[in-house]
Amino acid sequence: MTNPREMLTAYGLSPKKALGQNFLHDPNAVEKIASIGVQSADEAVLEIGPGVGALTEALAKRARRVVAVELDESLTPILHDRLKPYANVEIVYGDILKQDPAAVMGADAKNYVVAANVPYYITSAILRHLLESSAKPRRLTIMMQMEVAEKLIAKPGDMSLLTVSVQYYAKAQIAAKFPPAVFFPRPDVYSAVVRLDVFETPPVDAPEAVFFQVARAGFSQKRKQLKNSLGSGLHIETAEAAALCITAGIDPQRRPETLTLAEWAALARAWEGKSSAAI
Ligand code: SAM
Repeated sequence: MTNPREMLTAYGLSPKKALGQNFLHDPNAVEKIASIGVQSADEAVLEIGPGVGALTEALAKRARRVVAVELDESLTPILHDRLKPYANVEIVYGDILKQDPAAVMGADAKNYVVAANVPYYITSAILRHLLESSAKPRRLTIMMQMEVAEKLIAKPGDMSLLTVSVQYYAKAQIAAKFPPAVFFPRPDVYSAVVRLDVFETPPVDAPEAVFFQVARAGFSQKRKQLKNSLGSGLHIETAEAAALCITAGIDPQRRPETLTLAEWAALARAWEGKSSAAI
């Protein structure tokens, strides 16, 4: 039995909306994510939210090792029974956002990938948690809400803080799209699998902490000109923020969503130069 509705019923359970439980019930969708997620039989995979184990099983058949972190302990009997034949699977019960990926992956912390159909309400938090970790995955293959997927691949003109943050760490592409019908229960939204190939070194030249300080400040006020949002976010006068933009070669009247990563980096270098000159 692999149908999630039947499995849950057989174990006396039902899907928990509060935990974002929309289980994959289309075997083709499961295979598709697993085939994008695992590129070689030697890979170690971190899965987030195995649910009733459909993707976990497909990953276990392809990868050397699968570590799956699940918050809902009531799924234990299902996962135990379904995954018993796979000696390469470990289930860790807990909140992924409170787990250190290095500790979870142990010996594979320096070389692992992520493949998951995650709870949509914490997609951005999961991305931040993993990409900002000292033990970053090499690649992430994640099913998410289409709208969020589109944000991750956005280009200057439509950038958000999430776009800038993710593109600082990884090359993002939409690898597959799915309708609500591949899930039980059906979500209200369309979904996409995003593949993120994590850079060994960032694509732009700026210290990470300063880059994010400046980007966060730049996006701190919606639909404002850069000089205003930067001024308020960095706690400096608007004129000073405008001068900073000019030093970085950027028109202070531009809107934050139009800047390229290289321009955020130029702003970060200008801000770093200014802060160190003031010391
Ligand atoms: N991977 C399964 C599938 O594709 O059928 C289930 C996907 S369902 C969208 C999300 C899963 O993440 C659920 O099993 C849910 O219990 C689990 N989950 C929710 N919040 C979590 C958290 N903070 N940490 C780990 N797992 C979580």
